Amino acid sequence: MTADCDVLIAGAGPAGAALACALAHLPLRVLLVDAAPLPDPKAADRRALALGLGSQRILQGLDVWSTLAEQATPIRRVEVTEKGWPGVTRLAASELGQPALGWVLGDIALQRALLARLEDSSVRRAAVAVTALADGGEALAVTACKADGVAYQVTTRLLVAADGSDSAVCRLAGLRRHQRELPHSVLLGRLHTDRAHSGVAHERFAAEGPMALLPGAHPLDYTVVWTLPHERAQDLITLPAAHLIPLLQSAFGWRAGRFVALTESRCVRLREAWLTGTTANRLVAIGSAANTLHPIAAQGFNLGLRDVAELATGLAAAAAVGADPGSADLVRAYQQGRQADWRGVRQATRWLPCLFENPAPPLAAVRGLGLASLDVLAPLKRRLMVRAMGVTAPQSRLQRGYTS
Ligand SMILES: Cc1cc2nc3c(=O)[nH]c(=O)nc-3n(C[C@H](O)[C@H](O)[C@H](O)COP(=O)(O)OP(=O)(O)OC[C@H]3O[C@@H](n4cnc5c(N)ncnc54)[C@H](O)[C@@H]3O)c2cc1C
Repeated sequence: MTADCDVLIAGAGPAGAALACALAHLPLRVLLVDAAPLPDPKAADRRALALGLGSQRILQGLDVWSTLAEQATPIRRVEVTEKGWPGVTRLAASELGQPALGWVLGDIALQRALLARLEDSSVRRAAVAVTALADGGEALAVTACKADGVAYQVTTRLLVAADGSDSAVCRLAGLRRHQRELPHSVLLGRLHTDRAHSGVAHERFAAEGPMALLPGAHPLDYTVVWTLPHERAQDLITLPAAHLIPLLQSAFGWRAGRFVALTESRCVRLREAWLTGTTANRLVAIGSAANTLHPIAAQGFNLGLRDVAELATGLAAAAAVGADPGSADLVRAYQQGRQADWRGVRQATRWLPCLFENPAPPLAAVRGLGLASLDVLAPLKRRLMVRAMGVTAPQSRLQRGYTS
């Protein structure tokens, strides 16, 4: 079968759009499709993403950072505290000689910048949903439907599932996935305070669940992300801001000043999903399609960008020698190359909520002491910071900030 394209990316969310940018300069026929229409130029962000230094370098390599830099808020320091305990861990970028530990960026702003980068490239785009797959050996036959139900057939040598946490593409390919709804939801909103954030992000282990405050574009604004039992989050989201603000203040304390206003509050049910080791012919998964994680460690998209970096490196090497971009060797190498990172981040992300959501006094004491002592254990703290920034063992040129 002669394929219509070399790489079909199903899903133009931040992960799929980033991969399309990474492939745009290669001699490959790339098609990027998405079931949803393009985000409206005025659409508000669905969430604020905290991105580590490693991710910023990848975005620089994709040549989009210059557009994003003015919208990104640098995180200069992180303060981790536990309600009822005096311990504070302060992680400062200056201790590592860096301008920032990471940046906060709106997800839609990021997706928009990536898609804009593709405008003059050879990457083709279509507003269609992948609805069926058939394996033709040398290529996959993909059925894609427009919103009006009109169906198209396209063949591709490699199909990339970038279609998010409920990946239809993985399902159609028969890939086994662990997938479940978590008993938690996050309450999100924009908090206006009476004290400038100065680039400080906070992680507060409050009695009802961990609360993160991410510094916003306005010096007095934070994005609040409060993980709560699902039913509690459902109750709280019905409250008017005037009632919710005192509850947030009581849970967080006064370290970030007085909470003055809360806007854009909403509730998101949390789920986790990941592939359980199976592979399919000519198919790989990236981003949330490969791993959907609890947002407590703010690692989901950071991990997804490293998927992009690894896959783009493999495809660049294949393109350089005219090799098949969907060969079993390339699919296997990508899958194996990502395993350790996927496993490590998943384990850390699963372990954190258990440790920090347990209000039992012995665990609370360990946490309080742990936070206090971590602040003086410089080597351990340094290791933690370097890992959180996502700059351990860079493996690809893209991760080091080079496009070609
Ligand atoms: C509350 C919350 C906070 C978070 N905070 C952080 C953070 O601070 N830092 C961080 O790194 N990560 C964070 N994350 C994770 C991050 O949001 C995700 O990792 C990221 O958005 C995933 O991007 P994606 O492109 O893989 O998937 P998505 O953004 O879900 O995009 C998938 C795309 O696929 C399309 N699609 C679906 N089905 C089909 C189909 N059949 N055919 C074609 N297209 C299809 C959809 O329309 C969509 O555009 C957070 C997540 C949550 C829930």
